[in-house]
Amino acid sequence: MNIIKIIIAGPRGRMGREAVNLVMNTEHFELAAVLDHKYEGMMLSDLEGFQAVSNVPVYTDIEKCLQDTEADVLIDLTTPEVGAYHAKTALNYGVRPVVGTTGFTTEQLQELAELCSEKELGCIIAPNFAIGAVLMMKFSQMAAKYFHDVEIIEMHHDHKLDAPSGTAVKTAEMISAVREMKRQGHPNEKETIEGARGADYNGMHIHSVRLPGLIAHQQVMFGSDGQTMTIRHDSYNRASFMSGVKVAVETVMKQNTFVYGLENILD
Ligand code: NAP
Repeated sequence: MNIIKIIIAGPRGRMGREAVNLVMNTEHFELAAVLDHKYEGMMLSDLEGFQAVSNVPVYTDIEKCLQDTEADVLIDLTTPEVGAYHAKTALNYGVRPVVGTTGFTTEQLQELAELCSEKELGCIIAPNFAIGAVLMMKFSQMAAKYFHDVEIIEMHHDHKLDAPSGTAVKTAEMISAVREMKRQGHPNEKETIEGARGADYNGMHIHSVRLPGLIAHQQVMFGSDGQTMTIRHDSYNRASFMSGVKVAVETVMKQNTFVYGLENILD
């Protein structure tokens, strides 16, 4: 198998650290450089927790990083403010983005999709790289054909910046594609405290819980006469996302299109 040269943006983050481990421990992956917003000119091994990683430069300027490094793939695990810019710049330099960063707007996703077709390059954006979470979304879509009343409850650690989570939005989109449109709850219901019924997506409701101690969890609750059904997925640590990141890096090298969602690349 050919070696895939990779840049990781956000290496000191919780996801970034797992991604560094993944790349270092995968025979056909090579860590070419990392992109941070500090520590320009240092080596990754100078930073806390990376002493064992040799010969990986740290860049703060993405253009310089892409010019100096003959990379194939950029893995972005940063923040919604910079992630879309990183992906766009990578595509402009002929580097394929694999993006785990969540919170992009529809316009940003659209722009990236257009840039991919213009450049004829692959790009994979997945709001959830956990394979179990992808199955939860697929099973929820199956169930929504038969259960039209559904509430999504997503639960994350309290450092998460965006709400609702990318996974919850993606689940709602997938359900909407098959669910008969229905405005749920009593037609005259009133919130006595604002936000009590959560966000409204095509008449179904999404609730975001933020608590220390949580990682990434979601349950999709369906109800109909006399029965409820709950589909739930829990990620207990960030290593749970890495098998999906690995599949995405391998797949993006064979693709020339924009893909949103890991479910679209799993057989
Ligand atoms: P995190 O621990 O806060 O890590 C983000 C990292 O990005 C930090 O090290 C931060 O540095 C760095 N950063 C900020 N601005 C940067 C820039 N301009 N260039 C390079 N690095 C920059 O967050 P996390 O938990 O790892 O999550 C990262 C992203 O992945 C979030 O969007 C999160 O929602 C998403 N996520 C996705 C999945 C998935 O399966 N797709 C799973 C979990 C999380 P400082 O700390 O110095 O600011």
